[in-house]
Amino acid sequence: MAPLSWQWERAEFMNGLGRAQDQDGFIEEQVRTDRLHQLFRQSFAAIFGSYLGAVMLCWLCWDRFDHTVMLVWLSVLAVTSLLRVQMFMQWFRCSNAERTPDRWERRYWVTLMLSAGVWGAGALAVMPPDDRVSQVLVMLFTVGMSVSAVSCYSAYRYMTLGSMGLVLFPCTFWLLFQPAPMQFGVAVAVLVFSTFAMGATRKFSDALEKAFRLTRQMERAHNISTRAAQTDELTGLMNRRAFFEHGQLMYAQCRDNQQPLCALMMDMDHFKNINDTYGHQAGDQVLRQIGGVISASFRQSDLYGRLGGEEFAVLLPNTSLETARGIAEQLVKAIAGLVAEPVHGLTASLGVASIRGLDQDLNSLMNTADKALYRAKASGRNQVAVEE
Ligand code: GH3
Ligand code: MG
Ligand code: MG
Repeated sequence: MAPLSWQWERAEFMNGLGRAQDQDGFIEEQVRTDRLHQLFRQSFAAIFGSYLGAVMLCWLCWDRFDHTVMLVWLSVLAVTSLLRVQMFMQWFRCSNAERTPDRWERRYWVTLMLSAGVWGAGALAVMPPDDRVSQVLVMLFTVGMSVSAVSCYSAYRYMTLGSMGLVLFPCTFWLLFQPAPMQFGVAVAVLVFSTFAMGATRKFSDALEKAFRLTRQMERAHNISTRAAQTDELTGLMNRRAFFEHGQLMYAQCRDNQQPLCALMMDMDHFKNINDTYGHQAGDQVLRQIGGVISASFRQSDLYGRLGGEEFAVLLPNTSLETARGIAEQLVKAIAGLVAEPVHGLTASLGVASIRGLDQDLNSLMNTADKALYRAKASGRNQVAVEE
């Protein structure tokens, strides 16, 4: 059964208590995952783009290139492109939790370097040694390919540089050592262009990484401040505001689904005396222990918090008034049995109320429980009273 919306909220609250203490390493891991997601988002079209680039070059130079070499090149390139398509299909099919850098980065690297290597080596293989026009055309396409790499793989700087190098350098180096000044000039121009592209790659990937890190840091700061605003510092339970916020949701869902809902209000007995006798710090320590008893006593689906001072409240969904009374009595016993050296004779009183009629709201339910609590106090404390 799907959890109710207040259960999500409560689970978020509990998770957040742990998450707020996470180390910087966690943010770095998130940034790495963000970069991987960005890489996959940006580069799917590149597989088809690079294959189409090769097909177009072959079409333009159909009469100039050796047909066998050309067809072998296109076939091998088709195989490496299919490997990449298959990898993307698996990526699209798997769940978000499985999309981790450890699982995908190496695979991406290998398939990309293979494709880029085949592209660069194939371009050199098809380029006729004695035809300047087709040499210039081949260089035009390799430069185009490597500039596209900047836009597709910029989340990973060294991946961009690696794929650019593998596509560009076989032809460029070959041209660099040819006798004609024009060939040498083209090679030098390509090298100069590629230094600019390399610089742009560094700036791009640094900016992306910074943006991812800032987003994650802001998210974390937001979580910490939300958590702080919802948590009671002394006991670690929800504070009054959070209890009522989450309580309203629980109340609305129980009322809409016509499920029973009970409220417990608890107040420590003669707590002022404890402070006066043992000191305020001992009183604080007792309150911390009471917080521990409360967290250990209730179900995952219950809601509890410290409303202020030495007052605590609990909401029990799907619970009858009789069961709630039993639970409250157990809690009274647990507190009476609490060892909180040097404090002795700790007791608490509890009031229990249940949802009644459609015209009620959470505040009136809590008020009814509060009235029952004061009857428990008036009847001698260390006991439970149920709404009249
Ligand atoms: P009873 O409820 O049984 O009628 O008596 P009480 O003495 O507990 O009642 P009262 O509400 O008058 O006093 C509550 C006391 O709880 C007052 C204050 O000294 C103490 N208190 C409230 N908040 C804290 C806290 O955060 N830490 C400590 N140590 N004491 C607190
Ligand atoms: Mg009290
Ligand atoms: Mg009180």
